[in-house]
Formats: sequence, structure tokens, C-alpha cells
Amino acid sequence: MRIADRMSVIKPSQTFVVNSRALELKAQGMNVTSLAIGEPDFSTPEHIREAAKAAIDADFSHYTAVPGIPELRRAAGEYFGRQYGVTVPMESIIIAAGGKHALYNFAQAFINPGDEALIPSPYWLSYPDIVTLAGGVPKIVYAGTECGFKVTPAMLDSHAGPKTRLLILNSPGNPTGAVYTQAEMDALVQWAIDRDIFVLSDEIYDQLVFPPAKPATAVGWFAKHPDQIAVANGLSKTFAMTGWRVGYLAAHPDIIKKITTFQGQSTSNICSIAQKAALAALTGPLDCVERMRAAFQRRRDAAIRTIESWSWAVCPKPDGAFYLFMDVSRCYGKYAANSTEMCTLLLDRAQVALVPGGAFGDDNCLRISYAVADELLTDALERVGRTLSELAV
Ligand code: PMP
Ligand code: GLU
Repeated sequence: MRIADRMSVIKPSQTFVVNSRALELKAQGMNVTSLAIGEPDFSTPEHIREAAKAAIDADFSHYTAVPGIPELRRAAGEYFGRQYGVTVPMESIIIAAGGKHALYNFAQAFINPGDEALIPSPYWLSYPDIVTLAGGVPKIVYAGTECGFKVTPAMLDSHAGPKTRLLILNSPGNPTGAVYTQAEMDALVQWAIDRDIFVLSDEIYDQLVFPPAKPATAVGWFAKHPDQIAVANGLSKTFAMTGWRVGYLAAHPDIIKKITTFQGQSTSNICSIAQKAALAALTGPLDCVERMRAAFQRRRDAAIRTIESWSWAVCPKPDGAFYLFMDVSRCYGKYAANSTEMCTLLLDRAQVALVPGGAFGDDNCLRISYAVADELLTDALERVGRTLSELAV
């Protein structure tokens, strides 16, 4: 079968691979708990669903403007203002089919063949592939447990070169849940600006931060340096809307125009009904978001308490998102020599699905998503703990 060469440079997204395997085993009757996929277990809040139903009833069923309906672009720009006091004008916003699509389209519009992109690691597993598909070269900058999974300007410095064009930031981070302080983020952005390196800040988990930590944003920098910063966000995590596929990007109007052309020749506008739902989300009450955030914090606390009692695992306490990234390398040996084998073993013996850390750039670790009901989480962690304790040396 003839397949284009560019397909050989991408890997399947392990989050979806592991999750499908867990669903398959469940369908076969196994009592599998999946802590694999990163999606809130909550329902989309009612006022958002109602807005979608109203849009269907009003027959809002046709093509819309490619970059999104103007009121949604405006609302996304104003949502930055609501969160951070920096309103982004509509001309600088495009609506995409999820945060992933916003990042992908940005990469297509910005990266030239051979351009290098700095990606702090552990990284969300789609970044390297998104860069590679655009012809770019991912340059991985590793920051392990000893640095709280956070890079510093000095670490970036040692990986930057004459071809470095882009720095991808992600706070709170997937898979680590690490949250940069505003001062830490400012130092990274300043470092990039001083070297004429563009910053793409993926802030999709910014509403899921646990006090006293606070979200850091690059949107203030965007207002001052619109030709050097872009900020991606989306509704999947904040509003439990993974399936609706709504994301957005704030970037220079020239970039937005080019991405609009690109979207116009590929996906066109995103679903018209989802746009009306997103409008209700971004302009509506946010107490639903606070309730979900508080639940994630409660689960984080419970999970960390359990893992801290395991002498064979190392897991920095994350300040955001809904992931734990746990170093279990002390349990590697005869039965499982790496993170992939360990996840297979845990699926077989503990019937819990986790994602191998190798997929995120750190083979010593496993990713746990705690976006599941409290009881399921407690039970699954107990099973994981029992299996790991048998392997620990
Ligand atoms: N960025 C990060 C860091 C993510 O974990 C995800 C995963 N959902 C996304 C972007 C994209 O999410 P979506 O496409 O569902 O908006
Ligand atoms: N971002 C989520 C995760 O990491 C959803 C799956 C994906 O988009 O990769 O599990």
C-alpha cells in the first residue's frame, strides 16, 4: 500500500492507544479502571448543553465564518480579560477544533523546514509530532523530578542554537501537573524574546490550578509583543467539553489570517452548534468550573497521600491539571524493564490502565490521570500500589 513519507514521522498518540485498549478489555468483561486518558469525568454543565439545544432548535445548522462566529471570537478574547485583565481583540483570535487543532494549525503557519522548536520535557506527547509534521525539529529540554519538572532559562540556553525559532510552554503541564509561577514564566518568555525566539504558550489547564498556586499566563506578553507570542487554550478541560472540540488561539492578526486560509482549505469552520455552546461557556457563570477544580484538588490530595506512603515511588506534588507523573524506576527489573512493560504488567495484574512515561519523554515514570470518581481512584491506586510493592527492590 502506498503511504506518503510524512506519515512515517508520526506515532500514534499513546493516550488514545492505552485508553482504547482499556475500553476493549472492559468490553470483554474485565474489571479495568482507566486512569489513562486526560478528560474530566464530569458532565458538560447544563447551561452549556442548553445553549447547544437552543442552537439546534433555532436551526443554527449551516457553515459559519471559517475563524468562528464573531461573537465567539470576541468572547474568547474577552475571556482572557476576565481571567487575566488583558482583553485580546477579535482579529487576534481564531476558533479551532480543540486546543490540539489550534496548536497544529499554528505550527503549520509558523514553522519552516529545519526550524528548531524547544520543548520542555516531560512534554505532552503531541508536541513533537505537531512540530515534526510541520517540517520542524523538536529539541527536547529535560527537567526531571529534582527540578519539579520545570525548565529554567539556563537549561533552555544550553539547547538553543542558530536555528531555534520556537519555544513551547505548557503550564499547568501535561503529564506532570507542574505549574510555573508568573515570575518563572516571565523569565522564560523574556529569555526567548531577547533571542528572537517565538513563544507558543499552551494554557489549556489554566483554570485547573490548586491554591496557593496561581496560573501563569503569557497573554500579558502577547499584548506587548504580539509578533513574538501566541497563546492556545480550549474548552475541553475547563468546561468538561472534550468531545465538543472547541479550542482557540490568540496570535498576531497576520498569523490568524494565514491560519484562517489554512482552515478554509482543510476543516472550514468548527461545528456551528459547538460554537454556540462555547459562547455560553465563555460568557456564562463559572461556579461550575470552580466545583470541578475543587474536586480535582481533593483527588490530587488523596492520591498524593497514598503515593507518598509508597517508598518505591517518587512523585512531586503537582499544583495543577489532573495528572500525577510518578517515577517507578525502582520497580523496574525482571518483570518490567521500562515504562511500557510496566503499564502492560499493571494492566494485567492490577487491571489499571496508565500511560507509559516514555511517551512523554521520561521512561522512568508512569502517568496517572485522576479525572475519575474518588472511589475508583482510591481502589485503582490500591491495586497499583500492591502490584508495585511486589516488584520493588
Ligand atoms: N494541550 C495539552 C497540554 C493537552 O493535554 C491537551 C489534551 N487534551 C490538549 C492541548 C488538547 O486538548 P483538546 O484538543 O481536547 O482541546
Ligand atoms: N490531552 C489528553 C491526554 O493527554 C487527551 C488525549 C490527547 O489529546 O492526547 O490524555
